[in-house]
Amino acid sequence: MRIAMIGTGYVGLVSGACFADFGHRVCCIDKDAAKIDGLNAGRMPIWEPGLEAIVTANAERGRLTFTTDLASGVESADAVFIAVGTPARRGDGHADLTFVFDAVRELAKVIRPETVVVTKSTVPVGTGDRIENILREEGASGVSVASNPEFLREGAAIADFKHPDRIVVGAEDDRAREVLKEIYRPLFLNRAPILFTGRRTAELTKYAANAFLAVKISFINEIADLCEAVDADVQDVARGIGLDNRIGPKFLHAGPGYGGSCFPKDTLALLQTAQSAGVDQRIVRTTVEVNDSRKAQMVERVARAVGNLKGKRIAVLGLAFKPNTDDMRDAPSIPLINALVERGATVSAFDPVAREQAEKVFSGIEFAPDAYAAATGADALVIVTEWDEFRALDLQKVAELLGGKALVDLRNVYDRSEAEEAGLAYYGVGRGTLERD
Ligand code: NAD
Repeated sequence: MRIAMIGTGYVGLVSGACFADFGHRVCCIDKDAAKIDGLNAGRMPIWEPGLEAIVTANAERGRLTFTTDLASGVESADAVFIAVGTPARRGDGHADLTFVFDAVRELAKVIRPETVVVTKSTVPVGTGDRIENILREEGASGVSVASNPEFLREGAAIADFKHPDRIVVGAEDDRAREVLKEIYRPLFLNRAPILFTGRRTAELTKYAANAFLAVKISFINEIADLCEAVDADVQDVARGIGLDNRIGPKFLHAGPGYGGSCFPKDTLALLQTAQSAGVDQRIVRTTVEVNDSRKAQMVERVARAVGNLKGKRIAVLGLAFKPNTDDMRDAPSIPLINALVERGATVSAFDPVAREQAEKVFSGIEFAPDAYAAATGADALVIVTEWDEFRALDLQKVAELLGGKALVDLRNVYDRSEAEEAGLAYYGVGRGTLERD
């Protein structure tokens, strides 16, 4: 199959490269010329494990190309995927569909009627209908429009794409279903479950999935608060409930609240969809509130460990919203560091790969070359993102380097006992009473 991918970001580049790896001919299109020039010169625009090898191999075989010219990119495509950003609209949280509709208008001028247009971007219910209308208005009648939401996780994107828990296809006609079946054939052969459904249902499925995961995170975070009040351990509670296979062990890690490029914006967009439909979604609304207040409250945990923050030096480990990515969008590190700086603390931060992105977000903080350099002379060490390399720190050395002796472990990477043995005062999340700390 010939595939065009409009939008060559985290989703578009990974999907395009993996489709090429399945044997399809893929052209990735982006309006960001620097990104396309870089890709044509073999430079990856994002940090994603395993991506470079698969992009390089398929580009060398001529199956994967990159261009800024939409018209030439979609020329002979059987399917055109739209993978542009759908950020939250400022002010109301609606999904901002400007990038999607701009791309569709441009596409309408050049698309062949037999091509199938597929939204891979996360888009609200009814967006497929609106795309169909735009195509019709712009003179491209008869083009099939399908929905194929993407569920990959940054940091594990290649494996997720090649071994998905499921593929969801929302299509209203046989042509779209047949083309998508052909595109995903290698995954069927590997027995990946595929759900064919209506376009609106597919669109909503993506939001429902992300909202449910956000609910799980906020739920365990509130249980963590309760654990702190009653001297219980949230790690064991999570394990105790997660072993029940009706619940499952995933997304039950208490921490600083969810962030990233999807959950915050997708929960807000779902609420906006619900409001427009006149149907309240109280669970999701509360989840958003719980998460927002949690992220804002993380600074208090650091303050509790060091006393007045003014004039204190705080080492922050991990800036990206999660490990194995350089993505800083809505990262929990942002409100925490901003609040630390606002309260007069000096911040020395380290992230294994997100420094370049983080420099665009923060001003007035120091970036250290490694975890130990960040810790040197600090009053507290705060683990915000659980990169693997932070799981095996030499805690004795950390204790020696720190001026104060506080380890604020917002990801519960360490046990209290090992931290205390090294001479550190340990502040985890949901692990016994805070007073005892
Ligand atoms: P991104 O910002 O990394 O990439 C989007 C790209 O689209 C950018 O490179 C931008 O330059 C390009 N673009 C915008 N308008 C364009 C146009 N008219 N023509 C050509 N290129 C254009 O975004 P992302 O993280 O890949 O997310 C894309 C979509 O996928 C969003 O809807 C997101 O919600 C969804 N999604 C993201 C993830 C994730 O983990 N990042 C997972 C699943 C779904």
